Amino acid sequence: MEKLIMNHVKKTFYTELGALDVLDDITFSVEQGEIVAIVGPSGAGKSTLLNIISGLLEPTSGEVIVSGDIGYMFQKDHLFNWRTVWKNLLIGLEIKKDKDIKKQDKIKALLEKYGLIDFIHNYPQELSGGMRQRIALIRTLATNPEVLLLDEPFSALDYQTRINVSDDIYQMIKDSNVSAILVTHDISEAIAMADRVIVLSRRPAKLKKIINTTFEEKNITPLKKRVSKEFREYFDEIWGLLNE
Ligand code: ADP
Ligand code: MG
Repeated sequence: MEKLIMNHVKKTFYTELGALDVLDDITFSVEQGEIVAIVGPSGAGKSTLLNIISGLLEPTSGEVIVSGDIGYMFQKDHLFNWRTVWKNLLIGLEIKKDKDIKKQDKIKALLEKYGLIDFIHNYPQELSGGMRQRIALIRTLATNPEVLLLDEPFSALDYQTRINVSDDIYQMIKDSNVSAILVTHDISEAIAMADRVIVLSRRPAKLKKIINTTFEEKNITPLKKRVSKEFREYFDEIWGLLNE
């Protein structure tokens, strides 16, 4: 079942300096439970694409159909430093004035499952970057989104943390069965995390190719994908497309 459909989406920004074409005729869809990565050069229009999906921006033409609530996760974790981890996690429910204990228990269960329960009374600045990013994802998942948008969520992390956290985040996304769209300029990350990779051209971003990545090994983790024999072929193909 399709959770997101983008149909011939175009976006032009009109500024004092004139018109800036950013997205040119983007069409794709995302199935339930699928992770789709979008790779493209910096400034191509990737964040603009996510902002259009989330409804923060209107497309200039074309249509976007999303079924279900959206969760949005950014490069910065946007945790509040003056609130404990637990109080950060409750923000979504607090805003909705939702005192449902079952929902709080669900957050606790996620913390338990991903080894973060011992840190709920800590403040964000006492945690590592990787932990903060996992907390941020739990906070996003706590609102039960059906479509998850991730805008370069690992790019502020150091290399080793990024690789480890992507395995955890991958597992969390797959366990929760949301559909995810991961925007990145990192080819390896796209191949490691996604079921499909969408390659965009430079601005104005056109859809160059959609690549279904398949691996001989089943239920393969992002880390194992990185060392698989298929990985290099996909890397070379995407590298070639981006450098055309
Ligand atoms: P990416 O995320 O791929 O790096 P963005 O989507 O952030 O790229 O930006 C694409 C282009 O659109 C950039 O040239 C950027 O300066 C421009 N842009 C983004 N938002 C606006 C806006 N609100 N008004 C005008 N130009 C914008
Ligand atoms: Mg961006």
